[in-house]
Amino acid sequence: MKTQAIQGFKDILPDEMHRWLRIENVSRDIFQRFGFREIRLPIMEETSLFARSIGQDTDIVEKEMYTFADKGATLRPEATASLLRAFIEHALHLKQPVQRLFTIGPMFRHERPQKGRLRQFHQLDAEVIGAKEPDVDSELMAMGAMILTELGLAASLEINSLGCPRCRPSFREQLIDYLRQYSKDLCPDCRRRTDTNPLRVLDCKKSNCRELVDDAPSILASLCAACEDHFNAVCAGLERLGVSYTLNRFMVRGLDYYTRTTFEFLTDNLGAQAAIGAGGRYDGLIEQLGGPALPGIGFALGMERLALLMEQNEEEKAADSMDLYIAALGERAIREGQVLAHHLRSLGVRTGIDYGGRSLKAQMKQAGRVRARFALIIGDDELDRKAAQLRDMTGKDQQEVSLAGDAPQAARTIHTIISSAPA
Ligand SMILES: [Zn+2]
Ligand SMILES: [Zn+2]
Repeated sequence: MKTQAIQGFKDILPDEMHRWLRIENVSRDIFQRFGFREIRLPIMEETSLFARSIGQDTDIVEKEMYTFADKGATLRPEATASLLRAFIEHALHLKQPVQRLFTIGPMFRHERPQKGRLRQFHQLDAEVIGAKEPDVDSELMAMGAMILTELGLAASLEINSLGCPRCRPSFREQLIDYLRQYSKDLCPDCRRRTDTNPLRVLDCKKSNCRELVDDAPSILASLCAACEDHFNAVCAGLERLGVSYTLNRFMVRGLDYYTRTTFEFLTDNLGAQAAIGAGGRYDGLIEQLGGPALPGIGFALGMERLALLMEQNEEEKAADSMDLYIAALGERAIREGQVLAHHLRSLGVRTGIDYGGRSLKAQMKQAGRVRARFALIIGDDELDRKAAQLRDMTGKDQQEVSLAGDAPQAARTIHTIISSAPA
């Protein structure tokens, strides 16, 4: 019986790699323009880290984590908790008061697999630790928008504030009072959440719940003065930077650690409206995890969804190509061809060759398949004359080239000829 990848886990095949590399290269470049430094983290952490950060009553911790109960370890369901664990463990704040960090890698959640959402998925994650100013929030969102723009993707930005430990509890009470009146009309999940995590009811996708929360009290109307000032300054910053946004008072994010600013980048191009990135501020979290009392804000972009959107935008499939394919005819030619290929590769030439001793016709077909710019045909006759036939695969004209001297010399000769050819 054939073994297949397990559900929700997917191979990224060579034909898709150019999109993934482009996402990584563009993001790394932009992260660096904004002063972010890369950090690489293990994919597994102590289970308690996620319960303490993401929150015990969240869907993620309640039912979506891949936990090895006997090892006390869990595959990370998101990056922020791991990054903060590393930040605290290595006391990074002592080296630099404000840390700008990014990481790229796989995350794991046992969710129902759907288009663009897998159980092993990949994120680009950026975090600013140690800065409480609202200008950091707007700058971070502008950076996210820049990444999407440079990848050629259109997305809208929605923002909200979740308040702080001073103003959120009273909003929570108001919301519970409101929801209790409609308890019988809420979906079973929301009925349960009314007491455990009432804010989550605000972003329930069920139409009944949506209609009911339309008239629920607004968190934006219950912010304390400090949270309101912060939120207004974030909006003003976005306007200064020319980043368009809309307010969404129903956005709560499924993680307990958020305070004040939360935001999502959304697209309409994946069927239903879908988030391609999201983040927010988490000012009390580092202290809660045993670290110094420092504020923080971050966001993550989902790479599967970015790659899907880029695929939709692609006019033609980009394919890899080779500079040169060596068609070697006969055993002696194969041996010489192998050495020549090795020296060409060390000169930076992308060189294809295979050793099956197939016919010239079959090898030329292979040269076409790997989209080689040139083919070098080596046979016994040519070898006796220390020469080979170089065929331009675009124009089809062919010339005899000299293989005089040793193999490195012959490789340099061929390198010179093919690198001076018009593109
Ligand atoms: Zn507040
Ligand atoms: Zn609901």
